Amino acid sequence: MLMATIAPEIDLFDVTVSDYYGHEMASSRFRAEATLEDDIAHVRALTGKPVVSVGRFTSPETMLSQVRRGVVDLIGAARPSIADPFLPAKIRDGRLDDIRECIGCNICYAHNSLHVPIRCTQNPTMGEEWRRGWHPEQAPALVGQHKAALVVGGGPAGLEAALTLGRRGMMVMLAEAEDQFGGRVTLEASLPGLGEWARVRDWRLHQLSKLPEVELFPASRMTAQDCLDTGAAHVFVATGSQWRINGRGVAFPSGVESYANPMTLPVDAVLKGARPTGDVIVFDDEGYYMAASVAEALALGGARVCYVTSRNAVAAWMQYTGEQPQIHKRLADLGVTLHLNALVADLGSGVAQINCAYTGTRETHACEHFIPVTSREPQLTLWDALQGKALESLQLIGDCKAPGIIAQAVHDGHRAARAFGGPETAARRDRVALAG
Ligand code: SF4
Repeated sequence: MLMATIAPEIDLFDVTVSDYYGHEMASSRFRAEATLEDDIAHVRALTGKPVVSVGRFTSPETMLSQVRRGVVDLIGAARPSIADPFLPAKIRDGRLDDIRECIGCNICYAHNSLHVPIRCTQNPTMGEEWRRGWHPEQAPALVGQHKAALVVGGGPAGLEAALTLGRRGMMVMLAEAEDQFGGRVTLEASLPGLGEWARVRDWRLHQLSKLPEVELFPASRMTAQDCLDTGAAHVFVATGSQWRINGRGVAFPSGVESYANPMTLPVDAVLKGARPTGDVIVFDDEGYYMAASVAEALALGGARVCYVTSRNAVAAWMQYTGEQPQIHKRLADLGVTLHLNALVADLGSGVAQINCAYTGTRETHACEHFIPVTSREPQLTLWDALQGKALESLQLIGDCKAPGIIAQAVHDGHRAARAFGGPETAARRDRVALAG
């Protein structure tokens, strides 16, 4: 065995595995933290030499357990350090509850795959330390006196904005329409495999509980007059977005008239717990995780699911997060019928017409429930009602400004709170010095 033979010449083994995307770099949807434990233990037993390993360690307890059990000698933490660059310092100082744990979404990896600056769902300052001068732990105190702020919407953007404003010393009221905070994160974390995503909400709520400057108001759906009645001078509207049911999206920019059908069920209804059975068609014209997750949830609930996508792969954008082959396999294993390069062009009574995206060839499929996953509509009722009201400032943040990934909503909430009270710092650009 080569490893045992060369071991005497080696000081330290750094373990990686060949199935990089499906194992070592896997998302939380498919692998638990410390996924390399068996591989590391094997190398250590074989060589008798110290071993360092990664494997998306998120909890200090797991790290300690592996070291104590002699599985590993040095902990490597790439994604956990992206989510919280102060992870080692917080462990050293016993501030375990302050650790901003990675949720295993692989959005950082997706940006790396796309060769664009890395973003992180949990850490909005990732990549902005030099570019915008954002310290990952500190936000500058507000200069001068500022009247209280009201943040409407306790989803990812609203939670992050309230937290950052509070840390800057501002008095903040955070109002959420539902009983529970978290917005889309709370809903989406209930989908199969996405439970760890709730950390986006939970970490922020815990940090907010330490800030006397911020008051939380759940179950508080706000009208424009309600906002004015709070006396807040500054309002941040973070009311999110909802999935469209009219089919508007990339394939059908004007929507599809026949989607206005009793069979059509909004994605948001599934997110709130609806589990239709029988013949269900899910149309994915978005390409990320939502349609595949809905199809998975319904198949697990006993429905006969047909997944139709306008793209050439199941959840095509998940190629960037490294999850695409795994999500395809998962749906196939659950018996979901897969139609690629296809469009749900028309709905009739108990049937859906599925067209080939290239040839227009038509097929008719039985359909009792139809769920279009195409695009989202910003929720702007409150924003519109607040126009022209006597406020010192009014800002739109997160998905109601531009529906996007959770990381973008968190980043936007953070950016707005950082920029408050002064001119926003222009982002610096990297310069490349060319010789000669
Ligand atoms: S983007 Fe997601 S996977 Fe990557 S470090 Fe941040 S929370 Fe973890």
